[in-house]
Amino acid sequence: MPDYIVRGTALDGKVRVFAVQSTELVEELRRRQGTYPVVTAALGRTATMGAIMGIMLKGEEKLTIQISGKGPVGQIVVDANAFGDVRGYVTHPDVLGGANELGKLDVRGIVGTDGFLTVIKDLGMREPYRGQVELISGELGEDFAYYFSQSEQTPSAVGVGVLLNREDASVRVAGGFLIQLLPGLEDKEITEIERSVGQIPSVTSILADGTTPEGLLQRVFPDSLRLLEKVPIQFKCRCDRDRLKSVLVSLGEQELRDILVKEGHAEVVCTFCQDEYQFDKEDLQELLNQAVNR
Ligand SMILES: [Zn+2]
Repeated sequence: MPDYIVRGTALDGKVRVFAVQSTELVEELRRRQGTYPVVTAALGRTATMGAIMGIMLKGEEKLTIQISGKGPVGQIVVDANAFGDVRGYVTHPDVLGGANELGKLDVRGIVGTDGFLTVIKDLGMREPYRGQVELISGELGEDFAYYFSQSEQTPSAVGVGVLLNREDASVRVAGGFLIQLLPGLEDKEITEIERSVGQIPSVTSILADGTTPEGLLQRVFPDSLRLLEKVPIQFKCRCDRDRLKSVLVSLGEQELRDILVKEGHAEVVCTFCQDEYQFDKEDLQELLNQAVNR
């Protein structure tokens, strides 16, 4: 089943809800980046939340999530937009990590907790919007909940998870939900929401059972859920040959001349998708001319 997000409301519009199945997206990230199991979980959780936050944007707006907690994985970077396109990478995909006290992949252990979760939104203004919170957990779900409540002043419940296949560490199921409490809720409604959310087993166990994202939300709001939209999400990189040409030109005249003389060709790998672009002698000569004439 292809990945998608559902968006809706509950309790007469006083709650905003999102749920996503991101299995194929996270598997493609794993395959392209060559991530080890714990890293797949960390990048996958971030990408899943990125997909949800992307859908909250409009038109050509886009956002970048950066997580750096000084753990062995280094930085986690995820880009997303309103069209459901998501891409991402980590500094060190081949971190072994281990299991935590619950026998689960120890995401906190590789992300670390000495740092920040940063969200940069390009909303088409001159200055991008930038929100940042300290990492309070390193497991990421809680960190995103903290981000929404602190940086965007919207109390939120977040569940996010990635479950791997035992045999080959490929992604069996990935997904998440976001429940946002808007002004106007009564205390007893909030208590009831907290109780329902608390009763949900992990997102991955629900999805692995064959429950859909819609079904997940239905369990929290059996009487008041109103689904508004279903949006496909997918891995997609924005790189192309022209973009990487300008990267080469920006190396400058001296560096390009060196490459031309010593190597005679260049290959550039996109950090986000790991696609490889080849530039031969003629290409390099042309780029050198551009660099000289800049
Ligand atoms: Zn790319």
